Amino acid sequence: MRFDIATLFPEFMESALNESIIGRARKKGLFEAHCHNIRDYTLDKHRRVDDAPYSERQGMLMQAQPIYDCYKSVCEGRNPHVIYMSPQGRTLTQAKALELAQMDEIFILCGHYEGVDARVIDKIVDEEISIGDYVVSGGELPALVLIDSVVRTLDGVLSQPDCYEDESHFDGLLEYPQYTRPEVWEGERVPEVLLSGNHANILKWRKEQSLITTAKKRPDMLEKLTLSDDDLCILHNELGDFLKENV
Ligand code: SAM
Repeated sequence: MRFDIATLFPEFMESALNESIIGRARKKGLFEAHCHNIRDYTLDKHRRVDDAPYSERQGMLMQAQPIYDCYKSVCEGRNPHVIYMSPQGRTLTQAKALELAQMDEIFILCGHYEGVDARVIDKIVDEEISIGDYVVSGGELPALVLIDSVVRTLDGVLSQPDCYEDESHFDGLLEYPQYTRPEVWEGERVPEVLLSGNHANILKWRKEQSLITTAKKRPDMLEKLTLSDDDLCILHNELGDFLKENV
């Protein structure tokens, strides 16, 4: 899988893309990421890429020309899926990350300042994706969030092939609580079942805890699921009054 990222801050993107799990995956060649400096494509002799928006007195907007020339040069002979990171886009979800992971080539446009001239969005962008209903200063952090969420689902990136399937949001639930050594910390013991070595009981406990954690922390997520009678029984036994007030 290949990402091309059009940005005003390629060094920042490069340094983040070389760190940790994503950095190791990139080194192993499990995905490619190429960062392109939009400023390299400006025709302005002072290397400017922005100008004041029409009818606005404040702020600057990225101009269409350098972005379009960058896109044309990088994508010549190819037809990648083009994403504009934008607070106006559909919110990124785990399901969207899995969908994007099926694509061979993705071109990501990172905006800055007040955003981007709407004409270049209309001309090249296939979809706008947001990382949430708030505004950050540039598309670089959102692009890194998107790339990370996609790459960790690719074969060979996590230590076990289906690691991410156990995690929050994969199946509409949050993950169960996790514990590590020591067995007792500040008087609190790790749940007995996790020390039992009984795999079937551990799986059952995890499923129940996943359900309970979701009901407590994100009851809105349960509304989107069809719960079985067993699930409802677990919730009522464990959470009784809490459920009546919150779900
Ligand atoms: N004026 C724009 C608006 O109100 O919709 C916001 C511009 S924002 C300050 C600058 C850039 O940051 C955007 O062009 C976009 O690329 C990026 N950005 C900001 N918030 C984002 C979010 N929630 N998700 C994805 N990208 C975001």
